[in-house]
Amino acid sequence: LFVSFEGGDGVGKSTQVALLGRHLAALGREVVVTREPGGTPLGVELRRAVLHGEDLDPRTEALLYAADRAHHVASLVRPALERGAVVLTDRYLDSSVAYQGTGRGLGADEVERLSLWAVQGLLPHLTVLLDLDPAVGLARLTGDPDRLESAGDEFHRRTREAFWARAAAEPHRWLVVDASQPAEDVAAQVRARLAPLLAA
Ligand code: C5P
Repeated sequence: LFVSFEGGDGVGKSTQVALLGRHLAALGREVVVTREPGGTPLGVELRRAVLHGEDLDPRTEALLYAADRAHHVASLVRPALERGAVVLTDRYLDSSVAYQGTGRGLGADEVERLSLWAVQGLLPHLTVLLDLDPAVGLARLTGDPDRLESAGDEFHRRTREAFWARAAAEPHRWLVVDASQPAEDVAAQVRARLAPLLAA
């Protein structure tokens, strides 16, 4: 079972991944918790290059995210799914469609094609969109803003709307949760949606 968490910066993705991971482990499931970019050793290097390296043009940025994802899926996600583990990832290809496709203006369809090619079509069984006003999410973050976090209100508004559009187009894959609620309430909604998938 493959579950991704998506949404803007500071919406609580890593908190929700950790809460769900603990819940599933308590049910006796093997759980693999991972992230993009940076879920593998190569991914850590790519993450540093894309977020803290030299300025990148949007195509270069999109290709580095795609390379991170291709390696992540081939070396970690697919093997885990094949042995029956539940894989929880903090971001997956919908982030690229929203950020590079819509946010950076490369085109959602093109970035979706690139992303699907990179992962040989692997889509999550469930994608949780943690939806929050970008101003609220960004205010929750501590530490140095990385390049994307400092990209501006208009950029963050566009990416939020891109996530909405994807969720609306594929409702069977997506769960949209109001991320302004307390973390435990968000987690309960995620567990409720996942329960029938776990039983299947
Ligand atoms: O969520 P996380 O902290 O891992 O994201 C790091 C940064 O990379 C965030 O600012 C996020 O907006 C950005 N990002 C991106 N395109 C992706 C994935 C992440 O711009 N495909």
